[in-house]
Amino acid sequence: MQESYKHIETKLIHSGEPEPLIEGAVAMPVFQSATFEYRGESSYHDLRYIRLNNTPNHIALHKKLSALENAEAALVTASGMAAISSTLLSILSSGDHLLAQDCLYGGTHDFISRDLPAFGISFDFIDGDDSSSWERKLRPNTKAIYVETMTNPLLQVADLKGVVEFSKSHGLISIIDNTFTSPVNFRPPEIGFDLSLHSCTKYLNGHSDIVAGAVIGRADLVEKVTHKLNHLGGSLDPHACFLLHRGIKTLAVRMNYQSQSALKIARFLENHPAVEKVNYPGLESHPWHKRARQLFDGFSAMLSFEIKGDVEAAERFIERTHLPIVAPSLGGIETLITRPATTSHSGLNPEERRSLGISDTLIRLSVGLESTEEIIQDLKQALKT
Ligand SMILES: *Cc1c(COP(=O)(O)O)cnc(C)c1O
Repeated sequence: MQESYKHIETKLIHSGEPEPLIEGAVAMPVFQSATFEYRGESSYHDLRYIRLNNTPNHIALHKKLSALENAEAALVTASGMAAISSTLLSILSSGDHLLAQDCLYGGTHDFISRDLPAFGISFDFIDGDDSSSWERKLRPNTKAIYVETMTNPLLQVADLKGVVEFSKSHGLISIIDNTFTSPVNFRPPEIGFDLSLHSCTKYLNGHSDIVAGAVIGRADLVEKVTHKLNHLGGSLDPHACFLLHRGIKTLAVRMNYQSQSALKIARFLENHPAVEKVNYPGLESHPWHKRARQLFDGFSAMLSFEIKGDVEAAERFIERTHLPIVAPSLGGIETLITRPATTSHSGLNPEERRSLGISDTLIRLSVGLESTEEIIQDLKQALKT
């Protein structure tokens, strides 16, 4: 009885699993078959074929993901960007207008500002904190509003309840990228978001070995996105489905450990004399701490900080760390460290970065599953000048 699972730890393991188990297999087998025998399906979208997102591996994941966020439906995609681009192209058509948060994931920001105009879709960026300014940007053809649960790399938390209220009162479709929080810490459909998107490359898979995405939310909208994805072709391969399915099962233990570890590391950094500033929603000093506490069950494992000194000092610090791997991306089991000015935000010039509050000395840490104590010891020795 799948409906009876109450807690996410149980849903991660049991929701969406085939009943009865296929040949008794405890782990979901991989159906590596491009096409399946015709069973009299009458709609193109129902033909069983990998690109049509309906192999047993896709279906099991769709059920599991929708259960995780208490949503009506879900869809997996070939990457987070496939989820984002297919969703926006399904919801918006020529002549429509989009409101989007100003500090978005780089790929999303570029897709909205560089690709959507070619489809005749216009946009305005909004300050996620200042709900009183949103109405001024509203146009008669505004169709949707797009935000992220936490911004990268400053971990700002927008007025998400305000976004839902605003969308409802103006008949907009509300879309949120929930990658940074994961369904363990936040389930956007529960507060009324129409669609919740994920880069499953990050926490959901958690092992830094695939790219994948997900669209979770209202059944009518997920069906629309599915049909668009069927045409665009950004479907997840069954073997990647299998790996994602396997990775998801440990999401709660990973996320809870990583979140607790991140809080300890954030506190250590905040109290270190060589550290200027720490951005982590779990710290009482974080300007969005109260809102994060109200909305989320945990604060996740991304943090950013500035050490005293110039860009060279920041670079020297990163070089002196041994444990974190210097790499972009996040949400995996290994701790990763980057300087956003050289990776995720290198597309912006220093002036644009400054206007978003991202200094060139800012360092971002994605906390993994290693011993908290060892990560802290490593950061401590690297901070010694
Ligand atoms: C990584 C990321 C994406 C893009 O996901 P891919 O799987 O790399 O396509 C989108 N949004 C956020 C917040 C991300 O961190």
